[in-house]
Amino acid sequence: MDDLKFGKRNKRGDWAPNQPAETAPLFAFPPRLMAVLKWLPHYFFPWNAIFAASAVAYWAWVIPPVETMRTLSLGWIAWLYAVNAVAVFLFYGAFELHLYVLKRQENRFKYNGKFPADHKSNAFWFERQNLDNMLRTFLWGVTIWTAVEVGMLWAYANGYAPWLSFAENPWTLALVALVVPIIHEFHFFCIHRLIHTPLLYKWVHSVHHNSVNPSPWSSLSMHPIEHLLYFGTAFYHLFLPSNPILMLYQLHYAGFGAIPGHVGFDKVEIGKEKLVDSHAYAHYLHHKYFEVNYGDALIPLDKWFGTWHDGSPEGEAQMQERYRRRKEKLAASKARLEVGGAAE
Ligand SMILES: [Zn+2]
Ligand SMILES: [Zn+2]
Repeated sequence: MDDLKFGKRNKRGDWAPNQPAETAPLFAFPPRLMAVLKWLPHYFFPWNAIFAASAVAYWAWVIPPVETMRTLSLGWIAWLYAVNAVAVFLFYGAFELHLYVLKRQENRFKYNGKFPADHKSNAFWFERQNLDNMLRTFLWGVTIWTAVEVGMLWAYANGYAPWLSFAENPWTLALVALVVPIIHEFHFFCIHRLIHTPLLYKWVHSVHHNSVNPSPWSSLSMHPIEHLLYFGTAFYHLFLPSNPILMLYQLHYAGFGAIPGHVGFDKVEIGKEKLVDSHAYAHYLHHKYFEVNYGDALIPLDKWFGTWHDGSPEGEAQMQERYRRRKEKLAASKARLEVGGAAE
């Protein structure tokens, strides 16, 4: 597949798409019905359908009977941790193996021309990005994911969370299912913006940003506080009229759904002909520039707050202008302080 039909590669070997990143047309004003209809299949396939199907599969084969979950006990909690860990290992590992170990599509569609494994960096444990990212994923990521899952299932089993049945409330639950990605986007934007405040960035979120050139295992490579905030998206189902399967979908959307944004490739080649969009460009730019694209462009929150960067020269100019204005503001307040100090 010739990736230069879709984008260009610079001298450093970094590939960028010809088409700038776009926000979903869902919240456009005036409404763009045709654009929404064209976009809708991408809303479901393939990613959201995978995360929803995995939630159904969990409910069918993994989640213990409700009576068991009424009391917290090590047996079923350890079982859930084990299944989550295996699922993450297989799902993340499949992308890692295909794209980064076997390099089946070499650097075609790869935003950053370099592969993290080729370079040591002392930002990481043992100076290895992959090893560091994997350890953080399994030590804390999967642990906190499981803890939130256990807490929610225990709440459902004991009647502390509103549990509607699909037979009696199919339309309400269908609506909640549709809204799951939107809840995620809203929640992620808010917590992400929060952990970019200077103190929390330094202590918490900088761990995730050590991966300037993200790869699949970077997805859940976070500080445990960020894991807790990130998987906290499931707690909306303590108040929403929902169902444990939709709560699991919400968790899987966060846990497995972190993969497409960090895969590092714009498109994943399937066989010789087929390409699957990762929709990773916006979040790749976040890892590259830090202070743009706090959300994943499902709701145009970054546009509304002036932090959107679509990868185009205009997007770059807007970002530079924002930095310049901030620098000016800082310099002005520093000068004011100095004048105040001299007057005393
Ligand atoms: Zn990230
Ligand atoms: Zn960030």
